Amino acid sequence: MPTRKYTYYDYTLSLCPTCLKRVDAKIVFEDDNVFMLKRCKEHGNSKVLIADDVEYYKNIRNYNKASETPYKFNTKTDFGCPYDCGLCPDHEQHSCLTVIEVTDRCNLSCPTCYASSSPTYGRHRSLEEVKKMLDTIVENEKEPDVVQISGGEPTIHPQFFEILDYAKSLPIKHLMVNSNGIEIAKSIEFTKRLATYAPNFEVYLQFDSFDDKKLKVLRGADLNSIREKAIENLNKVNLSTTLVVTLQKGLNDNEIGKIIDYGLKQKCIRGVTFQPTQIAGRNENFDVELNRITLTEVRRKILEQTTVFNEDDIIPVPCNPDALAMGYALKLGGKVTPLTRLINPADLLNNSSNTIVYERDKAIRGQLSEVFSSGTSVEKASKKLHSLLCCLPFVKAPDLGYNNLFRVIIMHFMDAHNFDVRAVKKSCVHIVNKDNKIIPFETMNLFYRDDKLGRLKELQKEG
Ligand code: SF4
Ligand code: SF4
Repeated sequence: MPTRKYTYYDYTLSLCPTCLKRVDAKIVFEDDNVFMLKRCKEHGNSKVLIADDVEYYKNIRNYNKASETPYKFNTKTDFGCPYDCGLCPDHEQHSCLTVIEVTDRCNLSCPTCYASSSPTYGRHRSLEEVKKMLDTIVENEKEPDVVQISGGEPTIHPQFFEILDYAKSLPIKHLMVNSNGIEIAKSIEFTKRLATYAPNFEVYLQFDSFDDKKLKVLRGADLNSIREKAIENLNKVNLSTTLVVTLQKGLNDNEIGKIIDYGLKQKCIRGVTFQPTQIAGRNENFDVELNRITLTEVRRKILEQTTVFNEDDIIPVPCNPDALAMGYALKLGGKVTPLTRLINPADLLNNSSNTIVYERDKAIRGQLSEVFSSGTSVEKASKKLHSLLCCLPFVKAPDLGYNNLFRVIIMHFMDAHNFDVRAVKKSCVHIVNKDNKIIPFETMNLFYRDDKLGRLKELQKEG
C-alpha cells in the first residue's frame, strides 16, 4: 500500500505568503523536522520548515496553561482570525509585553527593519497621542506587566523624557526603552538621566554581532564601536540592559554563544533576547530560502555554543509556548548557575502546587531558600517564582534579585510563511497602534501598518 513520506500530526489555518489569504495547513513530521504544508488556490503549494526538533515541538503543547485575558477588548470578532485584531474577544492571552511606537523616525535606515523606519519616514507621535496610547494599555491591562517604549528610535523623539515621565506616573510594573544605542553611546549625561527612571526600568539594546561587516548587512552601518561605548556608559550607571539579537541563518547565528558569554560578563546586562528575522517591513539583505531560522534551531545553537545551559534550561514559556522559549541563570560571585532546571516543569504549569525541586543543586539551594524566608508566605513566594518564568524576574530576595539574574529568551514572531492561527491567538507581545487598538506583534507587521490596511480591507471583504 502506498505510504506518505511524512507523518501527519496536526491541522491548522495559515496564510498564503503571496496574497495573505487564509489557507488550510497541515503540520507534518519528516526526517526529524516539522514542516507546514499549505496550498493557495491561486499561488499553489508551499512547504516551510517550522522546527528541526520534533520532540520539542510536541512538548510545546504540554506547556499550555489557562488563558489570561485583558480586562477590555477593543474590537469585535467578525471577519475571523487574523483579520479582527484589536484585541478581539477571541484572543487567548493578555498583553504580557506591550510595545508603543512613539515615532516612525530613526537615526538609522537598517536594511532589516519591520517598521520600515528611517530619518525621514513618517513622523513623531505628539505627546498627547502617546499619552492616549499609554492610557489605552492601562485601560486594557489595569497594571500592565511590561511596556516597551519603541519606534523607530524612541530616544530621538523631541519629548522623549516627557514620555518617560508620563509612563512612570502610570501603574506599569516594568518599563523598557527599545534602542539602537546611538544616543546612549554619545552621552554619559543622557545615560545618567535614563538611569534616574530605575528601578523597574530597562534598556532593550540592539546588539546583533561583533562584526562590522555583518552589522552592515543588518543595520547598514559600522556600529561595533557605538555598541561598545553604549555598554560602557550603561555599565557606569548599572542600568539594567537586555541585548536584543536579530538573527539570520548563515550570518550571525554562529555568534550566539559569544554574545551570551559577553553578556554574562557585563555588570549591566540582565539577559539576551534572540529574535529570528520576521519577514515583514524592510528585509533588503534576506533570502527566504537561505536565511530563515526557527526557534528550535536557535535553541540548539544556544546549547551547542555555550557551556552554561543544557536541554532542561531552555523551555517553552506557558503564556505563548509556540513563540517563546526561556532560560534563567544566576550570576553569583563570578559563577554562573543555570536556574531553570531547578524548577519542576509540572509545578510551573500547576498553579495550585508550585514548589521548587531542591535536590539537584545544593549551591543555590540556600539562595532559593531565602525566597521562602523573606517574610513571604509560601504561596506568595511560589507565585513570585512562577512569574520568574512567565514574564520577568520579580523575585526580590537577597542575592536572587534582578541584579543577579540572567535570562535568555528566544522570541520567534511568525510571518506569512509559518503563520499558524492556533498559535497567534496566544500571542502575548502586542503593539498599541495610533488608533488605540492592541495588535499582536505578528499580525501588526503583516496587516495593520498603514501601507497594509488596503490589503486587509480586501481580505475582510473576501471573508
Ligand atoms: S490574532 Fe487575536 S486579536 Fe487578532 S483576530 Fe486573531 S484572535 Fe483576534
Ligand atoms: S531596526 Fe531599529 S534601528 Fe534600525 S531603522 Fe528600524 S527602528 Fe531604526
